[in-house]
Amino acid sequence: MSAIGRLFSCKKPYDTVGTKELFLAAMRENCSYHAAHCKPYREILETAGFSPDDLKTEEDLARLPVLPTRYFKRNQLFSRPEKRLPVKVTSSGTGGAKSVVGFDVKTLWHELKMAVRICKFHHLWSMKPTRYIIFGYRPRKNSLGAAKSAFAFTLLAPAVSRVYALERREDGFVPDLTLLREKLVKYAKGRLPVRTMGFPAYTYFLLKEMQAAGIRVTLPKGSMICLGGGWKQFYAERVEKEAFYKLAYEVLGVDEGHIVEFFGAVEHPILYADCSAHHFHVPAYARVLIRDVDTLAPLDMGRPGLVNLLTPAIQSMPLLSVMTDDLGILHGEGCPCGNKSPWMEILGRVGVKDVVTCAQGAEEVLKGGTP
Ligand SMILES: [Zn+2]
Repeated sequence: MSAIGRLFSCKKPYDTVGTKELFLAAMRENCSYHAAHCKPYREILETAGFSPDDLKTEEDLARLPVLPTRYFKRNQLFSRPEKRLPVKVTSSGTGGAKSVVGFDVKTLWHELKMAVRICKFHHLWSMKPTRYIIFGYRPRKNSLGAAKSAFAFTLLAPAVSRVYALERREDGFVPDLTLLREKLVKYAKGRLPVRTMGFPAYTYFLLKEMQAAGIRVTLPKGSMICLGGGWKQFYAERVEKEAFYKLAYEVLGVDEGHIVEFFGAVEHPILYADCSAHHFHVPAYARVLIRDVDTLAPLDMGRPGLVNLLTPAIQSMPLLSVMTDDLGILHGEGCPCGNKSPWMEILGRVGVKDVVTCAQGAEEVLKGGTP
């Protein structure tokens, strides 16, 4: 079996220590593949004077040329014929260029195995019939990655019903928070657990609205609030996560232990789920480097910088080392949850003018605008 295949068969999803050598071998394998099958990527490596065989130690990962996620919004680099990529997803970058990432069958298989293991680790699988409330778009063919992952999320427990907050209409996206509020009140009277999924901003606005209207319910046992897409809006408003958890308990009766947050990017389709201490530990299938904002030099643990995400998961496109616009810190051991893998703290987004994320656009959407 290939090194990549072995890495994605790894049964301990956070064993970043035990997979050190295997990860390196998988990255070398992935780098060689893209160098052989994607001419522009080969040229990037040649310009940087880098060969896949240069990946000998963990430190060498930092020397691998990094491609900014913004690069993929303007250029399409494929290592497989486009027509042989059964699934395509689009990034949720709004108001500007978007990345289109295509997945081949092998990559999808790795992705599936990873998602199953990570969800199992976080006890997200359930046999109990569940009602889903999605603060997002109804999935369509070739739709946003966010819509696709939100749909995939509804497969974790058998879905009795799915309600979507954003409807696509001729004049743009129209949110229906009133419908969601009514559904939550109705479901609270029932016995089936409810799982919500969406941007923290949407969830927050709905909770605030319910609080202002004096609505307080207790969702059935086993209900969960799931968040994805980032807190960007909150940094501006200085709303702390603690305040969010308090509000969720007050309005929906869901405690902090049943609030799970996810992190991921279309250009880095690895599932990061937060632990009981709400930290994003790095899965064995990926590595995270933090780089100096000016020099791009790799930084030590605990220092803030640009988030560089690495994974050998994708065979269809050279996405093995991508630079996000996120600022973050990587922390070493010492998380109270006991997970020994380093964890990533996202601080916010670099002020790039044309990068407007969905979460940032959420307020506009809620006002009835077009994202
Ligand atoms: Zn932890």
